[in-house]
Amino acid sequence: MSKVYFASARAMKWKYDDSMPGKLERLLKEFNLSNYFEPKEWVAVKTHFGSEGAHRIVRPIFLRKVVDALKSITAKPFVTDTVRIKGLDYLEVANQNGINHLSVGAPVILADGLYGNDSIIVKAGEIISEIAVASVIHDVPGMVVCSHVKGHIQAGYAGAIKNIAMGGVSSKHRECGWKCGRGAMHTVGEGKLIWHKERCELCYQCEEICPLETIKFENELFAYKEEDCWRCGRCTRVCPSGALSLPGDDERFMRSLAESAMTVLSTFKKGKVIYINFLTEIQPECDCMPMADVPVIQDQGILISDDIVAIEQASVDMLLKAPPLPQSASEEKNIVKGDDIFSKLSEKPYLIQIEESERLGLGRREYELIEI
Ligand code: SF4
Ligand code: SF4
Repeated sequence: MSKVYFASARAMKWKYDDSMPGKLERLLKEFNLSNYFEPKEWVAVKTHFGSEGAHRIVRPIFLRKVVDALKSITAKPFVTDTVRIKGLDYLEVANQNGINHLSVGAPVILADGLYGNDSIIVKAGEIISEIAVASVIHDVPGMVVCSHVKGHIQAGYAGAIKNIAMGGVSSKHRECGWKCGRGAMHTVGEGKLIWHKERCELCYQCEEICPLETIKFENELFAYKEEDCWRCGRCTRVCPSGALSLPGDDERFMRSLAESAMTVLSTFKKGKVIYINFLTEIQPECDCMPMADVPVIQDQGILISDDIVAIEQASVDMLLKAPPLPQSASEEKNIVKGDDIFSKLSEKPYLIQIEESERLGLGRREYELIEI
């Protein structure tokens, strides 16, 4: 049975030790990083830099604690993420969100280069035959995966699996383009956008949000290049009147996430990756959207484990027990205590990610929770 260490977000005493940064320090000590990383070894601290407007990420102070803990065992950490917009602009997003060398105490670098196409094709599995793993993540010997747990347009739930499945690969490869990057997962359901003209309010939010700028309205008629669309679903999410739909195979998509996570992890030796899940500011959307709504669930705390399946299951179990927060999307959707909040928010079968990851041998759903 895998061990998952946990520190609650509640601060009951007026002491640093009872603060979340203090508890993270204790968790990292308890976990003994020298069991995983060697002196002078380069270690990637993989996080999500957020977006302009999406500020509810893993806070820089927590990244700093991870970096300091790695330095204390004389490992050589750096903080990284794959490129989602133009690389220099993405570094500026990180900077605006408070992630820079000065704040986190280590270099902040792009895992797949300034152009987001510096990646290496790795053989994957049954659903996605191959995928472009970001070159830095491919080559680095050790990694600490720091994930902000939240909801997600298509994955329903986004934690450690999603962080490396989508965030460990490039959006595009220099030779085979976006189809062997993240788009490989988005397109597994092979859905095609449908525009329902009668419902369209001509608000043009879909046009604005498309990361590939493929939507263009001409004479008030929707048009997009199907061959350029990687089926990310953002346009359907922002549409206020349900005028866009993207039919797809959710189960295959969830399974492809697990497969991509397995592929990214296959570039590491056994025992060289650990996971920290931050159940804080648990908002309904991905950190790549241009906003962050208020949390739908109260902060729960921080979990750490060397088993990606166990930590994801423990995170989900905690979220399932938590009540919905008032004045949030939970209230809007009439979600009540005892409901599966993420399922109700996105209507996606998100647990398949975790079940499939176990089937692929990435870890076990059975775990022992050790609270510090
Ligand atoms: S699904 Fe919509 S937002 Fe995403 S790439 Fe296609 S057209 Fe653009
Ligand atoms: S977001 Fe929806 S309503 Fe707005 S222009 Fe696009 S399709 Fe029409």
